[in-house]
Amino acid sequence: MTGVPETLLRWLEKSWTEEIRERILAGYHEARVTTLRVNTLKTRKSDIVRELGAMGWAWREVEWYEHALILPGRTEPEVLELPMAREGRVYLQSLSAMIPVRILNPQPGESILDMTAAPGGKTTQICAETGNKAGVTACERDSIRAERMKHNLSLQGARATVITGDARQLPDLLRFDRVLLDAPCTGSGTIQVLSEGGERQMTEGWKNRILDTQAALLAKGLSLLKPGGCLVYATCSVLQEENEQQVRQAVDRGWAESVPLEPFSGEIPFLPGETGLTVCPDRQYEGFFVSCLRRTDKGIPAASSMKRRGRKFRG
Ligand code: SAM
Repeated sequence: MTGVPETLLRWLEKSWTEEIRERILAGYHEARVTTLRVNTLKTRKSDIVRELGAMGWAWREVEWYEHALILPGRTEPEVLELPMAREGRVYLQSLSAMIPVRILNPQPGESILDMTAAPGGKTTQICAETGNKAGVTACERDSIRAERMKHNLSLQGARATVITGDARQLPDLLRFDRVLLDAPCTGSGTIQVLSEGGERQMTEGWKNRILDTQAALLAKGLSLLKPGGCLVYATCSVLQEENEQQVRQAVDRGWAESVPLEPFSGEIPFLPGETGLTVCPDRQYEGFFVSCLRRTDKGIPAASSMKRRGRKFRG
């Protein structure tokens, strides 16, 4: 059995009480159930459920999201073999990863930026939620991942403009109604010590570089919002430095106000927080953080100074 890296244990100590750390560590030891999202651009849930039933597969609904299904006893490779997955009628996605778009609440007719978008799980979810009637821009720095996203968009019949490049360099004149920043992170919420690849190389320098990137992306994302527009900031990490502290820094600098989020379902193992919702890893959920910021008009930094100032943001 693989273990939890010592460094991560130290980082968790800085973030949480012993009681909560024990819950998180117990979550790392759970084998997560397989879940999918029905792609409403191509099909209806009733048709997917009928198809699963015909194959003798069990499924369960998710109280807070009508397009999610849990497939008890099934593995991801099994699902990927199914015609419904190969044809893009369903998308394998963790339940936690479906939360940010629910909070983003994209509407038809709006302009929406997904800043760090590949492989496109949330971009395609935005397209599905708006019936392909929003102007969606999806940015991704890694060209190979961007190509994979284009494939996923096409497979799912989702319409978005893909920009391959660093979101920190997006033109300053762009403006969006809503921005999703599903930030690169340490992945400290997705550790599974029972699975292959549970061990990860984690060092202070690596984490500090991630913190710098997150802060710079967050500043850039806020600067690209229309006045009053909202940015959803999410990570698959449970470390306060990557989550609540990043949000608080933006709020303290006067760039945004934090929009209070209520835990919206008793099914989700939320941890206590101030500026967002942290999900504790367990059998059904990956560890995750999601928050919502509304742009204020005070002092959004010019993008040209973003990179330089980003290095100072670290707490
Ligand atoms: N939202 C995606 C989804 O739901 O499928 C997952 C995004 S993943 C957490 C973060 C992505 O950000 C990675 O694909 C990474 O290559 C990309 N990334 C990292 N730094 C970036 C930057 N400066 N600009 C654009 N993309 C970046």
